[in-house]
Amino acid sequence: MNLIFLGPPGAGKGTYADRLIEKYDIPHISTGDIFREAIANGTTLGKQVEDIVKSGNLVPDELTNALVEERLKEKDCENGFILDGYPRTLNQAQALDAMLKNMCKKLDAAIYFEIDEETVVDRISTRRTCSNCGKVYNIISFPSKIEGICDDCGGKLVQRDDDREEIVRKRYRIYIQNTAPLIEYYRNQNKLFTLDSRKGVEEVMKILFNILGGIEK
Ligand code: AMP
Repeated sequence: MNLIFLGPPGAGKGTYADRLIEKYDIPHISTGDIFREAIANGTTLGKQVEDIVKSGNLVPDELTNALVEERLKEKDCENGFILDGYPRTLNQAQALDAMLKNMCKKLDAAIYFEIDEETVVDRISTRRTCSNCGKVYNIISFPSKIEGICDDCGGKLVQRDDDREEIVRKRYRIYIQNTAPLIEYYRNQNKLFTLDSRKGVEEVMKILFNILGGIEK
């Protein structure tokens, strides 16, 4: 199953992806996570993108495309993948099509998690992320068992630098501006499925499993 998840920050893409990977045995590839990890580890890539990511702007297409191409060649992508946060521009969508063609693969579906700016701001301001393993919590809707501590690894839960309200609003607008053409792009390929991400996690998951069940047949 080769999937892409479209939707602004805060739409829940990471949460839904994590639930799906258990069922389909495919990796969840988040370009945002890859960049954040590189920054945290101080790698060459991290140094290149640190200022861009922290300001909420987009990393240049060329760099992002090359990184995704390498990642998709890894063995764990044999059964498929969920790309989360990529593609984000029309140029990236076209590059992805070309990459997949070269690998004799095709995209099965583009799932668009639709959500408005105010809901995103409300959600993200209460989001906390494990500084060690990256697991995402919400202090209201999905709290950790012990406040401030990750259930899985015991790491410290923090608010991401780019989860501050003014940066969230900027990321949302940048996303909508750059992603609007992608919606049309995948609709024209008959691959687009739109979900109302304001609904609860369980309801969205149910609809998502139905969609994917239909694609598998
Ligand atoms: P995310 O966690 O998906 O919201 O991504 C966090 C940040 O990483 C974004 O605000 C961008 O700076 C960068 N980023 C993630 N994915 C991409 C992409 N596909 N193209 C360009 N920049 C990206």
